[in-house]
Amino acid sequence: MKIKCPFCGQFASEKKFDYLYHNANPVTGESVVVKDAKCFHCESCHEEWFNKAQEDSIQDFVDRAMRKPLTPMEIKQIRESLPFKTKKEVADFLCLNSKAFVRWENGYTGPNMANDLLLRLVAYSEANFNFVKKLHETNFAFVPTHYFFVNEFLKKEEIVTMQVEFPKAEESTQAILAAEGYIARNDEEYGEEYYLDDKIAA
Ligand SMILES: [Zn+2]
Repeated sequence: MKIKCPFCGQFASEKKFDYLYHNANPVTGESVVVKDAKCFHCESCHEEWFNKAQEDSIQDFVDRAMRKPLTPMEIKQIRESLPFKTKKEVADFLCLNSKAFVRWENGYTGPNMANDLLLRLVAYSEANFNFVKKLHETNFAFVPTHYFFVNEFLKKEEIVTMQVEFPKAEESTQAILAAEGYIARNDEEYGEEYYLDDKIAA
């Protein structure tokens, strides 16, 4: 891939290199080597730079390298912290296979990221734990308004629906056009409102 160097105007080409990415983990300050990172390199002025795609690809690599699932020890810690006696009880509570904790805790396999997330969520707060408990007690019945985000979304939907319903059939053409987003303009000479064929930008 050849492009024009933005610094000197000569041709530049893409090069691959191992890029030492500092502070990849903002908590530990850990660095990571991005294998075969790409950047542009100018033979004439020796400038080097990244375009957006190259930057994104490096960021993806770093995110994947840094995202580490819970270790067997950490999984055991979470499992033991929950108020159950057996591994099977914890597994049932989290809708996991009853053998899952045996496999994860001996390191034979690890949880996928979704189950990893589930373990973290349930261990994170009493509210999260009680929520799962309530789901079991109600046989996982889904009541949309019990869910914060769904509830907020429904409230917004209601407002939109009210706005859409506003122009009634018997209302004037002006009101209907206005409700559809047409801009009203006053004709000073005749004192009438008229509408151009353009809508208010969303
Ligand atoms: Zn150059």
